[in-house]
Amino acid sequence: MPLYDRNNIFARILRGEAPCTKVYEDEFALAFNDIRPKARVHVLAIPKGEYVSLIDFSQSAPPETVAGFWRAVTKVAEQLGVADGYRVSSNVGPGGGQVVFHFHVHILSGPRT
Ligand code: AMP
Repeated sequence: MPLYDRNNIFARILRGEAPCTKVYEDEFALAFNDIRPKARVHVLAIPKGEYVSLIDFSQSAPPETVAGFWRAVTKVAEQLGVADGYRVSSNVGPGGGQVVFHFHVHILSGPRT
């Protein structure tokens, strides 16, 4: 497991040091538009704590943090008006295509662009 880099772009967004187009926020998660959307709706949801990947989050985060995050993901979909049809994915590790090492999920809906 790589060490968490506090200068990764999502950490900077969480600290307000880099911009984002926020679509949802609560105590567990921040969600914002992906800058390179691959579908009509393409939002990223990230936990507020320092977790490198899905593995790190699942193994290290307190149960209430894990539950709160996944509930936030469903709230994002509701807020975006896509609760009747969307997909959620997470790239894990360089071999899985992960390029930002702060755990995040992609929430996508509509035709792929
Ligand atoms: P991955 O780590 O493979 O899941 O991909 C990271 C995702 O973050 C990509 O879809 C990028 O387009 C997206 N991304 C990178 N930087 C930003 C940013 N500053 N704001 C929004 N999305 C970003």
